[in-house]
Amino acid sequence: MPVTPTPVIAVEHLSLEYKSVEVLSDLTFTVQAGDYIGLVGPNGSGKSTLIKVLLGLVAPSRGDVSMLGSSPSAFKEWRRIGYLPQRISFFNPYFPGTVEEIVGLGLLSQKRFPKRIASSDGERIKKALELMSITGIRHKLIGELSGGQQQRVLIARALVNEPELLILDEPTTALDPETRENFFSLMHHLNKSKGITIILVTHDIGNIGRYASKMLYLDKRIIFYGGFDEFCLSETMARFFGVSSQHLICHRHD
Ligand code: ADP
Repeated sequence: MPVTPTPVIAVEHLSLEYKSVEVLSDLTFTVQAGDYIGLVGPNGSGKSTLIKVLLGLVAPSRGDVSMLGSSPSAFKEWRRIGYLPQRISFFNPYFPGTVEEIVGLGLLSQKRFPKRIASSDGERIKKALELMSITGIRHKLIGELSGGQQQRVLIARALVNEPELLILDEPTTALDPETRENFFSLMHHLNKSKGITIILVTHDIGNIGRYASKMLYLDKRIIFYGGFDEFCLSETMARFFGVSSQHLICHRHD
């Protein structure tokens, strides 16, 4: 019998309360290697909280979470995970870091003291800069760049360790349409050609079917988790969302 591979993420009966108000309710799901998951849901539905649990920043009230075979609180191999935070506009024009240095910061998470970038790391930084087509601006200060360029730098930083899993929190909110499209085609490439597992938190429910292969729709609890074909054919989902909203999510999906 074939051996079932260990899931990248396994969540069982996860619940979380903030000051006795339930924010996540009895979530159970797994993410397999190579999945590209769109995590969607209304404002306040618990998306960011779920990401914080996965990253070990918040402890669940109940239930079990496993990231690459370990609980987030005991997880030691953060370099296997790339994380792109929600806010990209935190660099003021005088932030004293060049593109190359910011990308290099991504390497520090895997190092013990002394935390210094070694010359052998130069190759990894070079590869990440090339992948994001930002080699030409590597000596520029991050604060001098446009929003789209800054985001490329942050993606390069998230990729510099060649992670197996990428977690992206609302990555395209501040981007112009062209940069957004470039971003999504890059993610598609990373998922398909490099096999990187992706979890993308997004508001863009009308487009999510064009990018992701599965949707996790959260509203404190899991409303839907699965592929788009299943979602689009589901009468339960048509009743939950209404036929026109279901259609909106489905009609752009090739
Ligand atoms: P989303 O990312 O889907 O918008 P969040 O995970 O940010 O949702 O928030 C889920 C709920 O938890 C919201 O009602 C929010 O107000 C609440 N919440 C988030 N963070 C905290 C916190 N640190 N303390 C108390 N309540 C919080």
